[in-house]
Amino acid sequence: MEDAGRPDVALARVAANHVPLTPVSFLEHSALAWPAKMAVRHGAFELTYADLHARCRRLASALAQAGVGHGDTVAIVAPNIPAMLEAHYAVPALGAVLNALNYRLDAKTIAFCLEHGNAKVVLVDAEFAPLVRDALARCGRTPLVVDLDDCEGPRDPALRAGTLTYAALLEQGDPAYAWPGPRDEWDSLSLLYTSGTTGEPKGVLYHHRGAYLNALGNALAFRLSPASVYLWTLPMFHCNGWTYTWAVTAAGGTHVCLRRVDPPPIFEAIVAHRVTHLCGAPVVLNLLVHAPAHVRRTFDHVVEVATGGAAPASTIIASMEAMGFRVTHLYGLTESYGPAAVCAWHDEWAVLPLTERALRMSRQGVAMPTLAALQVADPDTGAPVPRDGATLGEVMLRGNTIMKGYLGNPAATARAFAGGWFRTGDLAVWHPDNYIEIKDRAKDIIISGGENISSLEVEECLYRHPLVMEAAVVARPDARWGETPCAFVTLKPGVPPPDPATLIAWCRANLAHFKAPRAIVFGPLPKTSTGKIQKFVLREAARALAPPNG
Ligand code: ADP
Repeated sequence: MEDAGRPDVALARVAANHVPLTPVSFLEHSALAWPAKMAVRHGAFELTYADLHARCRRLASALAQAGVGHGDTVAIVAPNIPAMLEAHYAVPALGAVLNALNYRLDAKTIAFCLEHGNAKVVLVDAEFAPLVRDALARCGRTPLVVDLDDCEGPRDPALRAGTLTYAALLEQGDPAYAWPGPRDEWDSLSLLYTSGTTGEPKGVLYHHRGAYLNALGNALAFRLSPASVYLWTLPMFHCNGWTYTWAVTAAGGTHVCLRRVDPPPIFEAIVAHRVTHLCGAPVVLNLLVHAPAHVRRTFDHVVEVATGGAAPASTIIASMEAMGFRVTHLYGLTESYGPAAVCAWHDEWAVLPLTERALRMSRQGVAMPTLAALQVADPDTGAPVPRDGATLGEVMLRGNTIMKGYLGNPAATARAFAGGWFRTGDLAVWHPDNYIEIKDRAKDIIISGGENISSLEVEECLYRHPLVMEAAVVARPDARWGETPCAFVTLKPGVPPPDPATLIAWCRANLAHFKAPRAIVFGPLPKTSTGKIQKFVLREAARALAPPNG
């Protein structure tokens, strides 16, 4: 028995030393530590952590009475209101699966998701009741429909999709209910549909372990603390609010809900509640930067902003800093529970000139502390590219904060995980300081005369032009070059359209000539509800332009 003294033998996982990780435990912690602390604010509606805990218990108990159990799906179609947050605890606490749906989707797609995800219950905000009614009429399911009654939303009883209100449902629940929790940390807790820009949406499944870890990684990366006041400018349906639905609670901070992402209520909330943190895609930051003077408010505290979902142009970072925000840049995908990488800050950057500092910060950075590994590698061989800041490769991720897989789609799951890494489809270079810099999505790269052109690089150049508010660059078919860059540009408010030739000349002066756009189109840019510019729409528009002359 010479092995008996070895530290790694004969010790088992037992109830005392191994319990499933779950983000539901963050609520239990904060309710014990800070029962009287403000957990949620929503207009005049306020909940302490004790209140939030009791309401989540009521909701879980009432859902259990309605037959929701382990592995069942509860869908929700709602903006960032308290009930959305409550569902993020009550549903996983039953071992059930929360399916937060994007309310900007059309009825046909919502019907697809309800059907595909096997929704047993649908919680719906009054504003989206007609949409959900339409979706239900199109699908073969008859889930229990619960109408959410938001104090800040439309209150018209005609706007109901079901026969039970949320208030009545909570009334049926037990505020002391002992929820079962997940059986295993690998249990599914969340189902999220990707935007489905190519084909049908894919249902991404998260597990409790990943949500727990990613929430803690994000709390750390974004410096959340019990003093944090987090404003909900990022949709909670988007990767469960990049897991901040759980991260803010883990830190014991205060959630400030927001029905609509508009500069006036955002500035008002920052001032009224002394908001310390918010998240958003770069387009949300751009909205704030370009808000009219009478809407903008000044504040005397630093507001931390995490941005991601697309690369922020360095000019946006610089303008946000000038307004009193401190920007943290995050990168990730739905498949990675939102943020998987962070452009971790270095104090030495503080002394750099603004534009140079912003250029460093617009890189996507390094893996979150809770992600096992990130590499930029050759997509065919899987070999990591040199860290030379020049060789292009695919970003690949590995670790406990990567999805379980796509619901009912083993082929797509196998493709995504080929070679032991999650394939992001994003193309990047790896810098000598280990930071990655995304150059494009594989499908967005422009190949002109055999040369790769990063649409982001051309956009970055356009953003630096003083008349430009937003820019998106896509490939336009070209008989001679294969493809050439075509730019879609939104000008700053009140600016008369310049001759496109001046913008083309600006790009030629600041970029290699072959990278300069050959065509410029002025106008608003089509966006998804999560603030991403819809490049596939622009590619169609570029294709439809009159053929180029040479
Ligand atoms: P969808 O695929 O529906 O647009 P996702 O949120 O999953 O929704 O999008 C993930 C993609 O967004 C990434 O693959 C990448 O192309 C882009 N992205 C996310 N964060 C960044 C970032 N910080 N910089 C550049 N691109 C980003």
